[in-house]
Amino acid sequence: PMRIKILSMGSGGVGKSCLIKRYCEGRFVGKYISTIGVDYGVKTVPYDNYDLKVNFWDLSGHPEFFDVRNEFYRDTQGAMLVFDVSSRSSFADLEAWIREAEQYGAGDAQIIVVGNKVDLDRTVSAKEGKAWARAHGYEYFEASAKSGEGVDDIFEHLFESIASA
Ligand code: GDP
Ligand code: MG
Repeated sequence: PMRIKILSMGSGGVGKSCLIKRYCEGRFVGKYISTIGVDYGVKTVPYDNYDLKVNFWDLSGHPEFFDVRNEFYRDTQGAMLVFDVSSRSSFADLEAWIREAEQYGAGDAQIIVVGNKVDLDRTVSAKEGKAWARAHGYEYFEASAKSGEGVDDIFEHLFESIASA
């Protein structure tokens, strides 16, 4: 199998862990308690005529205060930059996450922007999300880790762009 490393970035509470859990385990874990540090997820995905072994790296606790960033960002092929469509501040935070990824050398990874929690009342429109992503040269997806809507598409797209990079 070909191994790939995928990161989740985005402020605390936007649903990074839930998206990964939904994709890896096919279920929504509503109350997920994690310790400070990094959560990992692994999934083997059939891809073309081989398997992809996907390693997810997911910052837990308060990612803003994460202290082993070098290791987190190292040797990354893909990243999802997540915000919550019901939280404008999480949308505003994306800028800082991108700067950080670039600073730590992960700027060349395949990055996609994900507006999560589309099952809630939104304060950020799809149009705004898309415009921000486009302006930075990224593709934009929306999803709900809760309902499962859009989740597989995010990861399938990310694998495609990594495989063809
Ligand atoms: P993280 O800090 O970015 O990893 O966020 P979590 O995955 O821990 O999710 C934070 C909170 O948002 C939890 O209470 C989840 O139940 C909730 N949550 C995550 N995804 C969704 C979603 O798509 N819809 C709704 N309504 N809630 C969600
Ligand atoms: Mg988390």
